[in-house]
Amino acid sequence: MAAFNIVDHEYDVVVVGAGGAGLRATFGMVQQGFKTACITKVFPTRSHTVAAQGGVAASLGNIGEDNWAWHMYDTVKGSDWLGDQDAIEYMCREAVPAIRELEHYGVPFSRTPEGKIYQRPFGGHMRNFGEAPVQRACAAADRTGHAILHTLYQQSLKFKAEFFIEYFSIDLMMDPDGSCRGVVAIDMATGTIHRFKAHRTVIATGGYGRAYFSCTSAHTCTGDGNAMAARVGLPLQDMEFVQFHPTGVYGAGVLITEGSRGEGGYLTNSAGERFMERYAPTAKDLASRDVVSRSMTMEIREGRGVGPEKDHIFLHLEHLGAEVLHQRLPGITESAKIFAGVDATKAPIPVLPTVHYNMGGIPTNYMGEVVTKKDGNPDSVVPGLMAIGEAACVSVHGANRLGANSLLDLVVFGRAAALRCRDTLKKGEPHRALPKDAADRALARLERLRNANGSLATAQIRKNMQRTMQNDAAVFRTTKSLQEGIVKLGQIAESLKDIKVSDRSLIFNTDLIEALELENLMTCALATIHGAEARHESRGAHAHEDFPNRDDETWMKHTVAYVDENHKVKLDYRPVHTYTLTSDVKYIAPKARVY
Ligand SMILES: Cc1cc2nc3c(=O)[nH]c(=O)nc-3n(C[C@H](O)[C@H](O)[C@H](O)COP(=O)(O)OP(=O)(O)OC[C@H]3O[C@@H](n4cnc5c(N)ncnc54)[C@H](O)[C@@H]3O)c2cc1C
Repeated sequence: MAAFNIVDHEYDVVVVGAGGAGLRATFGMVQQGFKTACITKVFPTRSHTVAAQGGVAASLGNIGEDNWAWHMYDTVKGSDWLGDQDAIEYMCREAVPAIRELEHYGVPFSRTPEGKIYQRPFGGHMRNFGEAPVQRACAAADRTGHAILHTLYQQSLKFKAEFFIEYFSIDLMMDPDGSCRGVVAIDMATGTIHRFKAHRTVIATGGYGRAYFSCTSAHTCTGDGNAMAARVGLPLQDMEFVQFHPTGVYGAGVLITEGSRGEGGYLTNSAGERFMERYAPTAKDLASRDVVSRSMTMEIREGRGVGPEKDHIFLHLEHLGAEVLHQRLPGITESAKIFAGVDATKAPIPVLPTVHYNMGGIPTNYMGEVVTKKDGNPDSVVPGLMAIGEAACVSVHGANRLGANSLLDLVVFGRAAALRCRDTLKKGEPHRALPKDAADRALARLERLRNANGSLATAQIRKNMQRTMQNDAAVFRTTKSLQEGIVKLGQIAESLKDIKVSDRSLIFNTDLIEALELENLMTCALATIHGAEARHESRGAHAHEDFPNRDDETWMKHTVAYVDENHKVKLDYRPVHTYTLTSDVKYIAPKARVY
């Protein structure tokens, strides 16, 4: 192996990722007095959280009566009863103080005339256990993620967190007993290798939208943390549940927030019909995302799509008037202009369901601790390892996430992770020596890839993978599409052996970094399609045409997928938590999900 230039660090806590989840955890840790490093492959305020538009859910009741138990009910129903109810209870209850806290930290929320935080309706958020839409999504115009991320970064700087920016984390360092000891990262600008020793490692690396061809997520959303966990033998949970957002701009994939329908926008087919009234008589255009995406897909399939190819749907905002659009939805008005060439004040926007969010991820408990099955206990904590945000699966979103619940998940569980460290970790505890081979796996991987001299460019393999996922693991799935997809994806994973990385250098080698990311994406894609093929029911975002009904008897359980370095996938299952955390609310038993 070539000689690497290695630098060692010791921290109480190392957080990998500086999106909403990573930053909330980072400054929470520093606030508790822990020596904390935050490693991020992009500048913190360029994390995908910056792109979140519509809002963050909390039952503040600023614009109409609301209640956290209603929020909990909606989230359980939205999850199609796959969410863990103890975690959902925790999130919905803690939403209120977590948002107030954000307000005090300086998030510039939009305001009501009385000066309260402005709240808008969002899909699946209802009053009084499903009666009618409620205004629960707290918004900073249509730039809520931007407002939150910048505020969290400012707070992190104020609390003197130590940032390692444009450092790419390659792999976890583990003890032979299975506890996590930190991470190995490469400083992309200099090629120096860094070993970060830590008593707690927090994975906050976001989702893996880029496993698909058309998605709303940033190019950096490559599931690095998920794959790091998989490579040390930990499971990934519920990866078959991939959310398609109803309104990606046709052809571009850029998101038009659900908040646009919250403000009164609606969808039409080629007959000019507001078809959502047929599919969801109560919530209509504000039904949950899986429901709206499926309805749009059915309209298109039945020949009622719009455009020359009849292959998309119209989103109307023009009736809202220029004033509302400029005040409440300025960003998406601009996106419509740039990406669809449409003046949203005058004409409808062409839209199509687009991959948007990963419900699955690294399984954790509601305190952010990573769990795995050990000695028969499915909830056994992996010492030293935590995961939060889109990389994690708590599971509060179950089979389908409600809009505005992800930004909430970031701040609630980022905060929870810091609180858990306060309760379980002493400041400045000395570090044991690392196992001698702690960084070997990471360095061997780096060495293998940078010398890879096959015949296929990273971009070619990536495109093959993205096309397969887009075609075979889409809004609707069949046994045939999934089985074919598994075979194809297996071959594409094999073709990674023939990858070519054009540059041997460790210094600013973007080709090498993209190759690392591609391997990570492949791990996530494999877990997704294998989990989907095995799940013989339809639930939330997983719509299996050969098994169109939800089957609680057999399938009310989490999938856990183990993907090894040879891309072999092993599936297991884990019970859903059917209990609440306190006696304030009761377990919500499954029933039919109608909107
Ligand atoms: C366009 C869009 C709009 C959205 N709108 C909303 C909304 O209105 N409301 C809502 O609730 N949700 C929304 N979501 C979902 C929500 O924004 C995301 O789920 C959430 O922001 C993810 O945050 P995160 O902190 O988990 O990850 P991210 O924000 O994706 O951050 C990941 C971090 O990890 C770092 N990282 C990743 N890999 C590595 C590595 N190998 N080494 C070092 N660092 C690494 C990155 O540098 C980055 O800092 C939206 C999502 C999209 C894509």
